[in-house]
Amino acid sequence: MKIINSISELKATVKQARQADMTVGFVPTMGYLHEGHLSLMYTAKKENDFLVASIFVNPLQFGPSEDYAVYPRDLERDAKLAEQAGVDVLFAPPEAEMYPQGVQNMNTYVDLKGITDKLCGKQRPGHFRGVATVVTKLFNIVGPDYAYFGQKDAQQVLVLKKMVQELNMNVVIRVLPIVREVDGLAMSSRNVYLEGPQRQAALVLYNSLCQAQKLLQQGQRNAGLIRDTISQLISQQPLATIDYVEIVDLQNLQPVEVITDAVLIALAVKIGKVRLIDNLLWEE
Ligand code: AMP
Repeated sequence: MKIINSISELKATVKQARQADMTVGFVPTMGYLHEGHLSLMYTAKKENDFLVASIFVNPLQFGPSEDYAVYPRDLERDAKLAEQAGVDVLFAPPEAEMYPQGVQNMNTYVDLKGITDKLCGKQRPGHFRGVATVVTKLFNIVGPDYAYFGQKDAQQVLVLKKMVQELNMNVVIRVLPIVREVDGLAMSSRNVYLEGPQRQAALVLYNSLCQAQKLLQQGQRNAGLIRDTISQLISQQPLATIDYVEIVDLQNLQPVEVITDAVLIALAVKIGKVRLIDNLLWEE
């Protein structure tokens, strides 16, 4: 596996693969890899001849009071894991390579209306503009046929699918299921922040989604009632603070009252200072 830091070298390397008629898969990440990231890489490797993964903690998608400075980073460990997962090129650009003019001096953004001011976008203004802009830059740099994302970040998937469709980008978005720890906690780079009893307390996200699923399986279709059940379960956990609990239409992220179609049950919960998200996709 080659580790590349410069955009021009990355472009030249992918060009060679293309000249050899290879298909190119791409897995963008912010690093500190876990099995969730690796599942994207395994699948991407199976489905493409040449696999590029990126590790870039993107300052543009973090708010001023968020954890950009302390976001966990370990390139050496990540490189070993990526190589084992079959990555051919690991693209790890420094911030100055991606934003030579400085993030504060950007002129061009990719900004989606509507779906970005809901769920996580409400709490994190500018977050999805940062995501859409950096993913566009990465797509332009890598030029992949297929790009792989996790259902864990359900709103991100929706935003990127819309972006690719509306801007006619030449890439197919592939979405893979949430990978969980054995006890159900959705894997996340931020799980390393959970200390002592917080780790156990964090299970309340998954457990409340399981309870919601049970209600749906029993025929419950009143979204308000399901939402209240989830909120009550989370409120009973003293270390947990709800950011949001929402049941929304999968197409436009508008809240629904009666579940008649595919919905996303999405949660953001703080365990201490650690903000975790999880979700359940329910298709009728
Ligand atoms: P991140 O490094 O957090 O930006 O994540 C990079 C990619 O990995 C995104 O497409 C995430 O949705 C995906 N991902 C993160 N955690 C998981 C997980 N537990 N299961 C599946 N995919 C995940």
